[in-house]
Amino acid sequence: METMSWNQQIVKKNNKALVLQLIMEKEPISRADISQVSGLHKTTVSSLVNELLNEELIYESGPGESSGGRRPVLLHFNKVAGYAIGIDIGVNYVLSVLTDLKGNIVNQKNQPVNQTTYSSIMNIVESMVQSLMDEMPASRYGIVGIGAGVPGIVNKEGTVLLAPNLGWNNIQLKTDLETLFKVPVMIENEANAGAIGEQQFGAGQDFQNIIYISAGIGIGVGIILNKELYQGKNGFSGEMGHMIIDLNGKRCNCGSRGCWEAYASEYALLEMAGKDMDSDSLESLLKLAENRDENAQNLFEKIGDYLGYGINNIINTFNPDQVIIGNRLALAKEWIEPSVRKTIETHTLSHHQKELHLDFSKLGKYSTALGVSAFVVENFIKQEEKTA
Ligand SMILES: [Zn+2]
Repeated sequence: METMSWNQQIVKKNNKALVLQLIMEKEPISRADISQVSGLHKTTVSSLVNELLNEELIYESGPGESSGGRRPVLLHFNKVAGYAIGIDIGVNYVLSVLTDLKGNIVNQKNQPVNQTTYSSIMNIVESMVQSLMDEMPASRYGIVGIGAGVPGIVNKEGTVLLAPNLGWNNIQLKTDLETLFKVPVMIENEANAGAIGEQQFGAGQDFQNIIYISAGIGIGVGIILNKELYQGKNGFSGEMGHMIIDLNGKRCNCGSRGCWEAYASEYALLEMAGKDMDSDSLESLLKLAENRDENAQNLFEKIGDYLGYGINNIINTFNPDQVIIGNRLALAKEWIEPSVRKTIETHTLSHHQKELHLDFSKLGKYSTALGVSAFVVENFIKQEEKTA
């Protein structure tokens, strides 16, 4: 057998991942069409397709439509060749999903949390992952990886440097999960992951420049510019929950004062509610608002105002196609949307309001879990570059 140069090997690996990517996106597709779209020679496509068939990552069905002549065999992506696990670690919940390789949820676990110490969260995560694995259908590759979204600052090595609302500092989450489960692990900031989830499967599918606002106990922002997640130099972008909107304002968990999330988050809502009424959760406040409790409705209106002020700053800065409000406060859409919109209409530069789409998340509580699961699948597909 002829030996390939290092460069030839790299090219072949990239080509194989490219072919697989094309089949994922455009299935069902023929070999001839892959060749045409990718610009790769037909014999190259044919041999890469054969490798992918052997690896059971794709399968054939046939014959498809033809404008004349022999009808081609069509190729499909084998979305159940393996499964991914996506975990959303919230401040007051942990949600885990098992998805196929196209992001369809196959199984899920959800649990409220009242203790955020690393060991208690890890206990929950470990048992959730274990039961998702135990209940998983049989497949060629099994679990291709685990992704976790965390409300904090995550470096590129998967260490959670700081998660103020969890009380975490320098947590080696990636290493710990890899040691436990012996599969590739990816850790992302939950707002970044939520942005990717909504872009790939939810409200953001038709847009190029998306700002995703994850409004939970804290507020994080995921920034997608020209369809790419903007991560900043070290992956720390989007901490807009800590933009200061009141110079002498309330203390924030980050140690500063007057941060946006101290006024516009679920935490802020519960704090305001605690002073005025007997309610201990977002859900109970929602129920009160539905029962026409004016006090509860006013609280949501106020939170909507505060959200609107921060979103104003964001729209004026980024001129995005779309702003998506997600995470827990999206449950209160009915009660916060009017005041969010009114604040923006009143304050945001008028040119910036043109052609702006303000939407709520379409995936609900799944934005982050599906986003990290998509990262895991993407990473697995790229592994094709290593096995070629
Ligand atoms: Zn802060």
